[in-house]
Amino acid sequence: MSALSEFSIIQHYFEQLTPQRDDVLLGIGDDCALLQCPADHVVAVSIDTLVEGVHFFPDVSPEKLGYKSLAVGLSDLAAMGATPAWFTLALTLPRVNPDWLKGFSSGLADLAKQHNIQLIGGDTTRGSLTISIQVHGFVEPKKALKRSGAQVGDLIYVTGSLGDAGAGLQLQLQQWDDENLEKEDRHYLVQRLEQPSPRLTIGHNLLGLASAAIDISDGLLADLGHIVEKSKVGARLDLAKLPLSSALSKINRTTAQQFALQSGDDYELCFIVPPQHFGEVEKLFKGQCTRIGMITDDQSIYVIDENDNLTELTGAGYDHFSS
Ligand code: ADP
Ligand code: MG
Repeated sequence: MSALSEFSIIQHYFEQLTPQRDDVLLGIGDDCALLQCPADHVVAVSIDTLVEGVHFFPDVSPEKLGYKSLAVGLSDLAAMGATPAWFTLALTLPRVNPDWLKGFSSGLADLAKQHNIQLIGGDTTRGSLTISIQVHGFVEPKKALKRSGAQVGDLIYVTGSLGDAGAGLQLQLQQWDDENLEKEDRHYLVQRLEQPSPRLTIGHNLLGLASAAIDISDGLLADLGHIVEKSKVGARLDLAKLPLSSALSKINRTTAQQFALQSGDDYELCFIVPPQHFGEVEKLFKGQCTRIGMITDDQSIYVIDENDNLTELTGAGYDHFSS
């Protein structure tokens, strides 16, 4: 992109967009940003890329895209128990479209303000529409919620409800629908796909209580699978306990449970709690999370259904289960 247009895009749309923090000694406009990390904390870093046609539809509203591009990164910080501080933005644009840039930057700014995270730099290039955001947060290294801390006997929890975004995606693709859904239900499910709420407060409050955590981006089975693998343990899930939204409670139960187990993009947290913290977690997060199972020494994930049947759910195993 020519120096002038790149410079003016940055100046007009990004330079003063987000909260200005005291720990940013130098922000957008130099070769590097200069940043101050608080004592006794380390920086938690994560990057995500969204590519048009792969991660979002070409006709998605730029406001929603700006929001979601940051939301997925914030969700990674939440899953670590980290407090958001800064982010960088690498933007590849096919052309300069002021309306698009205005919408995109305002969606981004909305969420950035909610979580006091500052845009401190980036890169702007020409090409197929691609958005990369790298987020930075603070966490005390000993308390960070890693995937590897789960132990046999710990309990498995999830925040919110599961499967909504997956159902929303199927609705948008017109590959699935259910006659029991009302207009508001369909709207809710699509909104869960387009504007996930990163669970930062819960993640932060889990520091010192949870033994492991992950955000659910690929689906409960896949993401709990990462905890099981990294922690070298197994898991048993109680199918009847999977939290379903009121929208998904209206549809065929097996289909709803499949969405809850398998579909991604909900950006809820799955976290693991050792026995000595059950009580406090139940009290602290009443109504915000659900206990869905237990960590075992099985080295695999099993699901107990409503008839007390135990089924192992690994990759191909899932087809067997769904039939
Ligand atoms: P350099 O040539 O040193 O890489 P650039 O011309 O790419 O610098 O960028 C100039 C300044 O603008 C840098 O501080 C960079 O971090 C910032 N910047 C570039 N693109 C973006 C963007 N999309 N969002 C935020 N800041 C950006
Ligand atoms: Mg550059």
